[in-house]
Amino acid sequence: MSLGKHLSKRLADGHVIPVLGFGTSAPPKVTESDVEEATERAISAGYRHIDTAYIYQNEKAIGRALQKKMADGAVTRDDLFCTTKVWSTFLRPELVRTSLEMSLKKLQLSYVDLYLIHFPVALKPGEEMVPKDAQGRVVSEQVDLRATWEAMEACKKAGLARSIGVSNFNCRQLELILNKPGLQYKPVCNQVECHPYLNQSQLLSFCRSKDIVLVAYGALGSDSGKTWRKRDDPVIKAIADKRGRTPAQVALRFQLQRGLVVLAKSFNEQRMRENLQAFDFQLTSEDMQSLEGLNRNWRYFPETSFRDSPNYPYFDEY
Ligand code: NAP
Repeated sequence: MSLGKHLSKRLADGHVIPVLGFGTSAPPKVTESDVEEATERAISAGYRHIDTAYIYQNEKAIGRALQKKMADGAVTRDDLFCTTKVWSTFLRPELVRTSLEMSLKKLQLSYVDLYLIHFPVALKPGEEMVPKDAQGRVVSEQVDLRATWEAMEACKKAGLARSIGVSNFNCRQLELILNKPGLQYKPVCNQVECHPYLNQSQLLSFCRSKDIVLVAYGALGSDSGKTWRKRDDPVIKAIADKRGRTPAQVALRFQLQRGLVVLAKSFNEQRMRENLQAFDFQLTSEDMQSLEGLNRNWRYFPETSFRDSPNYPYFDEY
């Protein structure tokens, strides 16, 4: 099955995004060639939406995989939807385009489909992705996110990004952008952690009211030890058994039926294909209600490295 435009969602700026994306972040022990091969296999399996980021340090490997699949005729550039993100050390407005140009060079692309502000906290620019002071505290800095957003708009206007959006923003931070005087383009999406134990219902209804698509990451419980996936949550398992599906497929289907775009990372070919089959079945409204009832506001991504920043904690704020 190919996740072409029929399995896509229209964004507020008129572009379309495939509703199931291939996640590419992996622990440092995973080699560049593993990422490259996994991305090639994902495209062969049918994924068209590839999610990466400057900080994942895998853009070169992904670029090689994309080029290979385009060269062998499996896909064209138009078939692909490629997302990357500007990291926190590049949030000063004058650095946003530089970061995108570096990403594009590594990806061997002339534009990305979606460019996101990765995280709403700016860190001191420099070589270190997470700069620390002598006491080991993260060195953040004050950058007006509205100025960063204007630089994102300039990237879109220059044709380097088809769509622009944000990640890990709360409602207040979204409103800051939406209410910016002279706003030219609003964020088309907000990519956030979202799964049955963190269903983001409040943020989701806010985003719906503003025509901002919520993109779910960590939808399979990520690699964390305390996941429902590894613990086999009895409710998810019972629904999966009833429908003849796996818990992972139920978790992905749950997000699709709520109208989200969902990312799934697997470098294992069988699980990659299993995740694509989230399109082949329906959950009933009772199933959906039971899944909504599992929320317990559990985060697998506490972003502990940002705890010293003046903007932290912010996740659970409005
Ligand atoms: P995830 O997709 O929730 O889970 C990935 C884990 O689930 C991996 O350990 C994978 O192992 C396993 N898995 C995949 N399919 C499975 C299946 N069918 N059955 C059982 N286990 C399965 O985690 P994630 O990578 O943290 O999030 C997805 C993507 O979102 C990332 O790759 C990244 O692109 C993006 N992301 C964005 C942010 C942000 O701040 N914007 C943060 C985190 C992630 P195998 O590989 O061995 O199958």
